[in-house]
Amino acid sequence: MPILRLELILVLRDKKINLSARSRPTQQLHLNYISMLDLFLKWYGGINKNKFGDGYSPHKPITLLFALTKLLKNERWINYQIDRENLEALIGDYTNFKSKPNCLQPLWRLKNDSRDLNIWATVPSDLKANKSGDISPTEARERNFQAGFSEEVFQWLGRNKALAQKLIDDIIDDNFPETLHAGLLEKLGVFDLIPEIVGPGQFENLIATPKRDPNFPKIILQLYDYRCCFCNLKLYFNHKPFPMEAAHIKWKARGGECSEQNGLSLCPTHHLAFDRGIWSLDDGHNIVLSSHAKMDTQNDIFFTPFLGKSITNFILDKKLLPTQENILWHRKNIFI
Ligand SMILES: [Zn+2]
Repeated sequence: MPILRLELILVLRDKKINLSARSRPTQQLHLNYISMLDLFLKWYGGINKNKFGDGYSPHKPITLLFALTKLLKNERWINYQIDRENLEALIGDYTNFKSKPNCLQPLWRLKNDSRDLNIWATVPSDLKANKSGDISPTEARERNFQAGFSEEVFQWLGRNKALAQKLIDDIIDDNFPETLHAGLLEKLGVFDLIPEIVGPGQFENLIATPKRDPNFPKIILQLYDYRCCFCNLKLYFNHKPFPMEAAHIKWKARGGECSEQNGLSLCPTHHLAFDRGIWSLDDGHNIVLSSHAKMDTQNDIFFTPFLGKSITNFILDKKLLPTQENILWHRKNIFI
């Protein structure tokens, strides 16, 4: 569960609100602003982390990102019939096929998560839920089901679009590794909207994600002799190792440590493919490929020659091999 940046809110409160004069309109505006942000972050902190622990379930975060992107376009409602195809395609792109890219239940359940906070609303609000709390797709279609931010939140964020944009960035950072950020923003369509939006840099991080150890890349690259441990590429450019990256096996966004036994040194291609679940490791640290990856094996030089090979060939200290626990997390949550 993310630690909310309540201290930021408190600082803002101290700086901007003079309680003795809060009936003045400007102070009242600050009070509303801070209170809404406080409520929003409280709601966000509870929506998925409690339920799924360190597991991976992108349904609710992606639904929320979809709603925030709509808000940037002054659109309040996600209409189940109209938006379902796009939203489920987006969820599907970041789901490991072990759960279906169903958008109806997160659209509905986000309201239950905000029951006392009035952050999320649905129209209609009286659909019948089964014992698991799920609603019927048939009834949702027949009654033109829509979901989105409450009127209050929509108005508040509508006036603060730079804040909405910052929330998008922070929620992506809180849920996904960096390799996937740009692709997700592009699929959401946020890049097309950015020129209209001013100044997201005015905000500090609103959602505190686990801090990355600045030494993590150096430690991991050293451990693997500055090679991609998948394809063994080792290249120096201008006396510096290029272009290796340190990947977290268990995502940092899901509580993975910045430690040797949770890292792999990878070239960008194999890093992105690892974070998307195209390949993983078996219990013997050998490379396995997703059954969903189809390729021209006759001519492929990026994956096929390395399947079944161990990533340990060039590791400098075998005592620091990735732990089974971290590998299992990746296979269970990300590998498809
Ligand atoms: Zn590689």
